Amino acid sequence: MSGNNHISSPVRTKEIIQRYGFSFKKSLGQNFLIDQNILDKIVDAAGLDQAAGALEIGPGIGALTERLAMSAGVVTAVEIDRRLIPILRDVLASYPHVKIRNDDVLKVNLQELFAEDFAAVERVSVVANLPYYVTTPILMKLLEEKLPLDNIVVMIQKEVAERMAASPGGKEYGSLSIAVQYYSEPELVCIVPRTVFIPQPNVESAVIRLKVRERPPVEVADEKHFFEVVQASFTQRRKTIANNLKARFFPEEGRERLESLLAEAGIEPSRRGETLSLEEYARLSAVLLAAGIV
Ligand code: SAM
Repeated sequence: MSGNNHISSPVRTKEIIQRYGFSFKKSLGQNFLIDQNILDKIVDAAGLDQAAGALEIGPGIGALTERLAMSAGVVTAVEIDRRLIPILRDVLASYPHVKIRNDDVLKVNLQELFAEDFAAVERVSVVANLPYYVTTPILMKLLEEKLPLDNIVVMIQKEVAERMAASPGGKEYGSLSIAVQYYSEPELVCIVPRTVFIPQPNVESAVIRLKVRERPPVEVADEKHFFEVVQASFTQRRKTIANNLKARFFPEEGRERLESLLAEAGIEPSRRGETLSLEEYARLSAVLLAAGIV
C-alpha cells in the first residue's frame, strides 16, 4: 500500500466517512486517529511480530486495525457499533488474518474469545485507541480476568494515564494506580495532541503501555480484601489512613485496636492513603485479615 493511502490519512478517512454516510456517535467515544506516526508509535510499543496476536477494542473505521494487520500474525477487533461492521469488512477485505467481531467488549467472554482466536499465536497484546467513557472498566476487566496477555498498549485520557503510572506520595496516586500496578508495570509512551483525531476530543490523550505481570509484585492472600482495604483508605483523601479505616472497619470501636494493628503493619496512623506503597497495603491487608477484620 502506498505511503499516504492508509485508512488513517485524513483524505482517506474523510472519503470513507462520506462514502458510507457514517456519522460520529459521541456517546460511543468515537474519535478516529488520522496520524500514521502516532499509529506507528502505538504499534511499536506493543512489540508485535508474526508470532503475536493483537486484540483491538473499538476499531472504528480501521485505521489502527490496518496498521496492526501489517505487524501481527492474527488480529481480532471488537466493535460495538453495528454501523461500522460492513465498513470494516470492506476496507479491511485484503487482510484475511483480521477478524471483526460486533460486540460490547464489556460483555464479551474474553476467555472464550482468546481460545477461539488466539490458539495459533505465542502471545497476545491488546492494542487500542480506547473509547474514553469506559477506559477504566475495560482495562480493569482485561487485568482482573488474568488473560494470557503480554502487554496492553492503549491511547487513553492523559490524566487517567498519569494516575495509572503514578508513584506513592503524589496527588495522582490512588486506588486506580494500585490496581493497575498490582497487575502490570505501566509506562507512559507519549502524550498525544487533540489534532490527531477526527473529531477532536475535549481532553488531551496519552499512550500508555502496561506490561502484564506474570504474578503480582506483592503476596496477597485475599485479593478482594486487599482491594477493599485500598478503597477504604482513599474514601476521603484528606483524612488519615486511621480515620478512613476506622469508618470502614471499626465504626463502633475506640481507636486502640486499630492503632495497634497499624503498628503491627508498620504504618503510622497519621499517614494518608496516598503515601502507602503496594507492599504496605499488602501488609496492612494481611494484618487485618489475621485479626479477622474483613
Ligand atoms: N480505533 C479507531 C481509531 O483509532 O481511529 C477508533 C477509536 S474510537 C476512540 C473508539 C471506538 O470504540 C469507536 O469505534 C467506538 O464505537 C468503539 N466502542 C465504544 N464502546 C465500545 C465497547 N463497549 N465495546 C467495543 N467497542 C466500543
